[in-house]
Amino acid sequence: MVHITREKLVYGFDASFPPVATIASGDTVTVETFDTSTGRIHKPEDVPAFVAVRDPKKVNPACGPIYVEGAEPGDALAVEILDIKLAPLGFARALKNAGVIIDGIRDFGVVMVRVDGDDLIYGEKLRFPARTMVGVLGTAPAEGTIYTAHPGAQGSNIDMTINKVGATVFLPVHHPGALLSIGDVHASMGDGEVCGTGVEINGEVTVRVTVVKGAAPERIWVETPDDWATTGQAESLDDAVRQAVEGMTVFLMNRFDLDKTEAFLLVSARGDVRVGQCARIPGCDATAYVLFPKDVVKIL
Ligand code: CA
Ligand code: CA
Repeated sequence: MVHITREKLVYGFDASFPPVATIASGDTVTVETFDTSTGRIHKPEDVPAFVAVRDPKKVNPACGPIYVEGAEPGDALAVEILDIKLAPLGFARALKNAGVIIDGIRDFGVVMVRVDGDDLIYGEKLRFPARTMVGVLGTAPAEGTIYTAHPGAQGSNIDMTINKVGATVFLPVHHPGALLSIGDVHASMGDGEVCGTGVEINGEVTVRVTVVKGAAPERIWVETPDDWATTGQAESLDDAVRQAVEGMTVFLMNRFDLDKTEAFLLVSARGDVRVGQCARIPGCDATAYVLFPKDVVKIL
């Protein structure tokens, strides 16, 4: 099995970035991932020094890119998340002048979070179950660079809590080899990631990567054991929601042979709109998705 160390990282998705490994369709690969600070925050006292040098185009490092043999423009890349391992210690921290609340929030506010089995110990004050997921996952965009702080239709900083073990993420392929990169593991994140971080932590992610010929989606979508999810990524949360609803409407038209109106009403009747990330970080778009359960079945 291919294993890629966390030093092989990028801060963006770009077709010009040279691949660090090559795999075949159907292969399993393990990537080590750095936390959003590239491993520079180990204690609260590290935060001011990190902030002094923080470059918004150098956060959320992603391990890769990985060249997938046989992946061609127009294909989809199915990335099944098989396992996510966590380092012993992570952190949540406030971003100055970002986040849903700014007034009254300390500039260098940080809480260290320790992993204790399946639980997290939050600032040595609180215990709660881990909610382990992958924040950044994507392929090279058709043109230019998508930074790992930013979400795009081909992935990157998507921040959906459903991107956990058992989920399969479907990504569009725009260039030969797809150029997959993965990063930004969270030990926990709430829908919306309202302060701009979850519990940021080094990790190790194992995925199975399969090329699906001719199945490139317009935007990334996700299948979980119980649901399908379509996504949106836009400057405003309203537009991200609209994109996700449009995506699910088309998905249901095809799946259940419905017209657009019937499918739209079905999204409203049975689908759940979820916020991926709405932290209002300058230069970082919002993400949203529609979660639609597989318990809807065709009877006619
Ligand atoms: Ca993120
Ligand atoms: Ca993060």
